[in-house]
Amino acid sequence: MIKQFNQALSQKEKSLKLLYGLINERGPISKSDLIAETGLTQTTCSRLIDELINHALIIESGFGESSGGRKPYLYEIKSDIYHLIGIDISRRYTKILLMDLNLKVKAEARLKMNQTSTPDVIIDFIVDEVNEMLTNHQLQTKDILGIGIGAIGPLDREKGIILNPVHFPSPGWVNVPINDMLSERLEMKVLIDYGVNTALLAEYQNEFIKTHRNIVYVIKGVGSRTGIIMDGRLVHGSDKLGMYGQGHMIVDIHGRKCICGGYGCVQAYSSISAIKNDVINSLKQGKNSILADRFVDFEEIQFEDICQAVNENDSLCCEVIKEAGYYTGIGLSNVINVLHPDLIILSGPTYTDMDLYYDVVTETAFKRSKVIYPDHDINFSRGNLGENATAIGAGGMLLSSYLE
Ligand SMILES: [Zn+2]
Repeated sequence: MIKQFNQALSQKEKSLKLLYGLINERGPISKSDLIAETGLTQTTCSRLIDELINHALIIESGFGESSGGRKPYLYEIKSDIYHLIGIDISRRYTKILLMDLNLKVKAEARLKMNQTSTPDVIIDFIVDEVNEMLTNHQLQTKDILGIGIGAIGPLDREKGIILNPVHFPSPGWVNVPINDMLSERLEMKVLIDYGVNTALLAEYQNEFIKTHRNIVYVIKGVGSRTGIIMDGRLVHGSDKLGMYGQGHMIVDIHGRKCICGGYGCVQAYSSISAIKNDVINSLKQGKNSILADRFVDFEEIQFEDICQAVNENDSLCCEVIKEAGYYTGIGLSNVINVLHPDLIILSGPTYTDMDLYYDVVTETAFKRSKVIYPDHDINFSRGNLGENATAIGAGGMLLSSYLE
């Protein structure tokens, strides 16, 4: 029945969809709260709830707090009548999740991106993994509501095309009609949005919906991507412009040359490759570090090796990370001063794999923004969903598309 919610609906079907959407968003929820939210009469609401139960769309899930009389029944959606596929395509990996309607992860697959990860290779990987997940969980195509993708931009979201992401590790990623390619092979509905947006939505709905209304979400990996929720709503901005983002905010007009051609961008000091270059150049100048003992050829040092050295308190790597974090924090304080978010979520390996970087960035941004707005209540978090946030949010976006 959820699949029919996208078609032309009678008045009664519209009410069923509204009620189901509310139970999905707020459940477990009582009948009186549903009546208060929808303005339906007691009789109509009871009749619609019975109908949703008869269609096996919702279930009774225990009792709520009593306000004097009997404890009220609570209702929540039945999570396993359909499943969803969420996919995260970034420069570092492709991740696929099979989820139930509560966005609980039932199976996952991950492929590290390298020079051979062309669109054809990735599409084959996705198709094979999805088919295997269906077999392993005894599901058929009709049991899947569809596929949501959170991807690296720039995108044409409407047409479902990945346009031409910069610095992708493999060739061929130009005007890839990924929605059509996947829906043809898997015979499922496919939607796409920027990965940073789906990750932000996932974290918002999972944890912060009741406490925060204005959120900035940053994914920092090879580049830096930013998503924004203002007054509880995702800000989409201009489609097809997802190329750069906050990473090219200028923090020193006489600063380092950036890959964009400008000078002094945050990116030039704090991208994964900038951090790697700083460490390698310092080692070549003969500075002391545990990495000097571990590597003969410094060019072989990977970002993961630097993270490990930082976590072992290596003085050289800690110095590099502190400087990168300082510039990033200054950039972030500019974002705070413009948008006044009440929460900033920082994700991606630089934040999640090194406490030092996260601490320097948040401390710098906090102190700088307090100078200008001392009363502004600003909070920082690394989110709770980790690397799965983008794919979970992509599944959530797909489910929402039936309920809007
Ligand atoms: Zn730049």
